[in-house]
Amino acid sequence: MASARIPRPVTAPFDRVFLGDVVAADGLFPGGYVALRGEAIAAIGQGEPPPAAEVVDYGGKLILPGLVDGHMHTSSSMGWPGIEGATRSAAAGGVTTCVDMPYDVPHAVTDAALLADKVGWVERTAHVDMALYGTITKHGGVDRIGELAAAGVSAFKLSTYEYDAVRFPRIDHQTMLAAFAAIANTGLPVAVHNEDQELVERLTAEARAAGQTHAIMHARTRPPLAETLADLEIFEIGLQTGTHVHIAHSSLARGFDLARAYRGMGMQASGEACIQYLCMTEDDLVRLGGRGKCNPPFRTEAEVEQVWERLLGGEVEYVSTDHAPWPADRKGSADIFACGAGLTGLQSFAPLMFTLLDERGLPPRLMATYCAERPAKLHGLYPRKGSIRLGADCDLLVLEPGRFRFDEAAIEDRPEMRWSPYHGREMRARVAATVLRGRTIWDGAEVLARPGDGRFIRRGTA
Ligand SMILES: [Zn+2]
Repeated sequence: MASARIPRPVTAPFDRVFLGDVVAADGLFPGGYVALRGEAIAAIGQGEPPPAAEVVDYGGKLILPGLVDGHMHTSSSMGWPGIEGATRSAAAGGVTTCVDMPYDVPHAVTDAALLADKVGWVERTAHVDMALYGTITKHGGVDRIGELAAAGVSAFKLSTYEYDAVRFPRIDHQTMLAAFAAIANTGLPVAVHNEDQELVERLTAEARAAGQTHAIMHARTRPPLAETLADLEIFEIGLQTGTHVHIAHSSLARGFDLARAYRGMGMQASGEACIQYLCMTEDDLVRLGGRGKCNPPFRTEAEVEQVWERLLGGEVEYVSTDHAPWPADRKGSADIFACGAGLTGLQSFAPLMFTLLDERGLPPRLMATYCAERPAKLHGLYPRKGSIRLGADCDLLVLEPGRFRFDEAAIEDRPEMRWSPYHGREMRARVAATVLRGRTIWDGAEVLARPGDGRFIRRGTA
């Protein structure tokens, strides 16, 4: 931190300076400041702040890098109009960069023209900055991988499981082999949805035939083996093609162990843990019913502990939300198989991550690392995004420690998206402000960003 301090300019004060306890990836700096010129961080330090046109005092609060959520689905329930509400919720939650999945309604982002259409929606309607994943069509899609990479997607996403033949298809082994080889040529990573279709379909069909449709059957029909079989398949193909393969979400410690094993064989292998796999269990699935349904499902308390062990051992690439805002009426059926899979999580992300760390006596800098810096690095957005450092975009999350209760009614999205699996949970912090490229876009009470204030961030833009 001290090395980041620059001489104070006498004739050119900064545009704004933010005062507070600065949390960088390398530690906590009480009584610190972050000053900016234009949209970028121009000074960082501790002690007396430099002169600035405006001083914003967050004394007693924590100033972290704005979070980079590396995994979400703004547009899987209602298409690109969903970007507006999801990013509004992101602004209120301290998430300044959303990395959005490509499995959109009515069609996925599978070529440069579709990407350009989606970028248009981002630039007209997003409240925070966005990077975008690309994917491929089930047939013939491999040919479009090069143009998507050239157009600035941050990564590719493929699936071993078919949710929808057009929007979210299963990619067969031979096509996956060709796709991974083409992706390796672009230098981008490929994240893969990791569930074995054959196993899950058989178990689900058997459960339904037996009339077993209560909530716990969601977990029973998607057992750990369904995940690890898929993990093995994608890592084996990646090993052959020399591709960076990233498990899009591992609910299991074993997923991270497999990634480590394949790294040991010389390939780039990684996996991410969504925040729900750091706190939710099968008991929560039973308690919440459809509102606790996501894929992969919540596991046991023992598994949650093991995922924490992997995270603290440095084996987890980053922590994301997998935010997928289904309208509440898609989550209410007593038949768990009839409910949509996916949770809301953008607005609860920062308070919950802070709380989970604090409950374990862990420092908030881990949040700067796992929820900002590392996802920004994987998606080629670093150092512009993901950390408090000179020259970076001035994206900040301001947390006020205390005792708060998460209220789903406060979610800043369309009314039908105002539900949360964390409703009523005690949080040890709240988001007091969010700053996007130097501008306050959430002041603790109101979203100040307007649709279109967000920008598309291409991979590799410094
Ligand atoms: Zn997802």
